Amino acid sequence: MKKILVIGSLNMDIQVTADRLPGVGETVLGTDYSYNCGGKGANQAFAAGRLGADAVMLGCVGQDEFGRTLIRGLKDNGVCTDYISVREGKDTGTAVILVDSLANNSIVTIAGANGSCDIPYLEKTEPQIMDYEYLLVQMEIPPDAVFYAIDQAKEAGKAVILNPAPAPVGLPEEIMRKIDIITPNESELARLSRHKTDSLDGIMEGAGKLLSQGVGHVIVTMGDKGALWVSQEGCRMFEGTRVDALDTTGAGDCFNGALAVKLAEGKSMEEAICFANAAAAISVTRKGAQASMPFKEEVLSLMQ
Ligand code: ATP
Repeated sequence: MKKILVIGSLNMDIQVTADRLPGVGETVLGTDYSYNCGGKGANQAFAAGRLGADAVMLGCVGQDEFGRTLIRGLKDNGVCTDYISVREGKDTGTAVILVDSLANNSIVTIAGANGSCDIPYLEKTEPQIMDYEYLLVQMEIPPDAVFYAIDQAKEAGKAVILNPAPAPVGLPEEIMRKIDIITPNESELARLSRHKTDSLDGIMEGAGKLLSQGVGHVIVTMGDKGALWVSQEGCRMFEGTRVDALDTTGAGDCFNGALAVKLAEGKSMEEAICFANAAAAISVTRKGAQASMPFKEEVLSLMQ
């Protein structure tokens, strides 16, 4: 199996539930709280590790308990964490998520040490791990570091998968040309392509714009509907797997991790998307992000 390099964020999510969200200046009584390991980079590396990949994670945490917990969780699931940088004087990235009884949420994120996942860190670290074949990267670290990682990967002949989340309004064309696979959801595609994506035609046109900018493949994740693969050869819809969804947090991250795993195993794009759809479907039947990520055997048995 080929090695997957994940470069991205590590966050501790602090989830607080209350019957309703407080208004400005208001205090409400909450019902529950929990700490959950998160950050798109960590979630995707975790998913890949749990699914049996040879995965290595690059990113930064603070010298604190949150950082140690995040690293431990990845390591326990088979991810190489040797190159994650522990930053003195920085706090691990945090997200405070308020959720009401109707599952509406308000989120405040603090980048913390994720802001140190910058070009100097990558310049120092990447040369030690150039034996990877797939780069999997998102946009919760400084954009110039994302672009640098993509440049380096392409120069070294690696395959690049970009999960453009959170999505910028467009990406530089010289970066688009270096992306083999881009995996926006519908709203991310709208921002990236500056095109309405509220219909299937709109989604295809938006994806077509990204292809015309030089991206190799566009895979649009569409929640319970599944995923749409668009390339120069045409497009194909992969129906979502029918499940009783409980919590969709981290579904996109699970999809990306699983997709990378199958491609790194040398499987076709069709096989990789079917596997990713099934893996992500399992993840939505369980609570949490990392806690909901499935093992390989579970995905294979769902696909039978
Ligand atoms: P999130 O931000 O919640 O992590 P996302 O918006 O990035 O997710 P989605 O398109 O919602 O990504 O979901 C990613 C994938 O997860 C889908 O392509 C699909 O394979 C799977 N999925 C999501 N929701 C469901 C569902 N209700 N039933 C089955 N599969 C689902």
